[in-house]
Amino acid sequence: MPALQPARGTQDLLPEVARRHRRVSDAARGLAELYGFAEIATPVFEFTEVFARPIGEHTDIVAKEMYTFTDRGGEEVTLRPENTAGVVRAVLSNGLTQSTPLKFFYAGPMFRYERPQKGRFRQFHQIGVELLGVAQPQADIEVIALGQRILRALGIADRVVLELNTLGDPESRAAYRAALVGYFSARVSELSEDSRRRLERNPLRILDSKDPGDQRLAAEAPDFAEYLNDASREFFVRVRDGLDQLGIAYRLNPRLVRGLDYYTHTAFEFVTTDLGAQGTVIGGGRYDGLVELMGGPAMPGVGWAAGIERLALLIGEPPMALRPVALVPLGEAAERLAMLIDEPPAPPRPIALVPLGGEAELVALRLGEELRDAGLAVDLGYSGNLARRMRRADRIGARAAVLIGDNELAQGAVTLRDFDSGAQELVPLGELPARLKKLAG
Ligand code: ATP
Ligand code: MG
Repeated sequence: MPALQPARGTQDLLPEVARRHRRVSDAARGLAELYGFAEIATPVFEFTEVFARPIGEHTDIVAKEMYTFTDRGGEEVTLRPENTAGVVRAVLSNGLTQSTPLKFFYAGPMFRYERPQKGRFRQFHQIGVELLGVAQPQADIEVIALGQRILRALGIADRVVLELNTLGDPESRAAYRAALVGYFSARVSELSEDSRRRLERNPLRILDSKDPGDQRLAAEAPDFAEYLNDASREFFVRVRDGLDQLGIAYRLNPRLVRGLDYYTHTAFEFVTTDLGAQGTVIGGGRYDGLVELMGGPAMPGVGWAAGIERLALLIGEPPMALRPVALVPLGEAAERLAMLIDEPPAPPRPIALVPLGGEAELVALRLGEELRDAGLAVDLGYSGNLARRMRRADRIGARAAVLIGDNELAQGAVTLRDFDSGAQELVPLGELPARLKKLAG
């Protein structure tokens, strides 16, 4: 009998590789916590409709890559090709839409019927974050900052470049779509067969084509920037200003369109040249129409997903997981070991940052990063009146709130409210990290 083989595009994660995967997902989970993202796990398979319409019938994923089957009870189900639609489905099924912002982290296997290559599998693994309910560009900036922080923690930030684009709002997108149809229709004979089909259904996707002929045409295509309306342009400027504030470098890539249908405004990818053609390690963007499309209320969203296999290929060998730490009498060994694998530590109590006003928002973004550098978990209150933001701080169990108003800023200070003691006082900005460190214990 021939030896049994794994199915094409799947692989066993032998301990050394499994350990590297763990290093990636553990680092990401821990850092996501510093930004207030809590882990969620949704089912590996869902009703097919959860993916088909949201991702888009004419995307590669839905048209060619989904593992879809009828189960023994006659239900049409699909192994998840990505996790955003599943997370939104979970938000709706569990009635969570009232308590925005919602911030989720996930890690787990995804499935796409693709041609296997280095860094491309049929079963692969992703980590990802979703931030729902925040329309402001600060959310885009924060999720990008988190992505970059993870790459930094894994020691690969200098091998990866952030590429950035905007897809504008639906109005801008419609105008650009019309321009693209005009451009490509005049050159339809030079398009690949796939792209001829895309031309009718989703011409933007031609820009994303991997066919060299399509790519040559795409390089000369009209620029999205010329079709952005004022609101879309303003949004993009604010995202870029925020990234500049945080010292996050990026390269504008007007040809960057994400593979899925539901993206608006910000689109980004962290890419490397070290993995051949499979160079995108993190891909994400804003998806303001998705929740409504899935039958929920109008609710903006932004997030990203990263391929664990690709990140694991990039990181060097992790240090050995096990190191002897002490000589222990044989009789005590079992007990000592049990202590080592005790309960996982509770997540740290966050510090709530509550900026009030435009200047304060920029300060809050910077301050948030500075506090996370110091190991503190920080939750940014993006919008809403003071009472609403304080209620959120209470709900998430914040240790303290930092109120940043234009008046206080003029004095170089912020108001610190200690939730445990109830005390509130003005604290100079420079002293804040140390004070909060002490509070957080
Ligand atoms: P690509 O252009 O490489 O096909 P994509 O746009 O289809 O990527 P996304 O849907 O944005 O990818 O998924 C986010 C990330 O998940 C990718 O950047 C990549 O790191 C990873 N990923 C996607 N598909 C695969 C796969 N088949 N095998 C391994 N990793 C993958
Ligand atoms: Mg793909």
